[in-house]
Amino acid sequence: MFQKPFTPFQWEPQDRIETLQEKQRFLKGKIKSKFINYNYHESYISFLEAVFSRGDRRLTKVLIKAWEKGCKFDGWQEYFKFDKWMEAFKECGIDPEFYAYRKRALDEILPWDFIDAGVSKEYLIKEYQRAMECILTKDCRLGCTACGITKYLEGGACFNGAIFNKVSKN
Ligand code: SF4
Repeated sequence: MFQKPFTPFQWEPQDRIETLQEKQRFLKGKIKSKFINYNYHESYISFLEAVFSRGDRRLTKVLIKAWEKGCKFDGWQEYFKFDKWMEAFKECGIDPEFYAYRKRALDEILPWDFIDAGVSKEYLIKEYQRAMECILTKDCRLGCTACGITKYLEGGACFNGAIFNKVSKN
């Protein structure tokens, strides 16, 4: 799942590191073809991404502390120091699991709620609820589902395609 802000799954918890690794091993074990190249994200980095992508201002001191401990160039595996990050969280009195593994209530005020990214929160909630009920939303190129982004688009049309020239609420 993509639990990132401004997505329908922003309220969902991230899988635990062990679960992610288990899923990665499972998928890897299923691939028998030498023509398929399986790439996956390092689970410890995914954990930090889950924390910081949905974190709040309290994480600022963790960032500074981790930097002081030598956490730089984390995108390069050879420089990534997960233990130093965990030390930084501990020394700042912050539990990273609160941010990564906690399911949010739909009415919780989220740290990024003050940013207007175009797509409305009501739409994301609707999409979230549909996903929980396994209801597929049609490709909006076949008919607008009124996500709200058009308020930033001149003339109310998405992209340049002719099929977007009419935005109708479903
Ligand atoms: S057609 Fe545009 S406004 Fe409608 S759902 Fe798609 S992106 Fe949103």
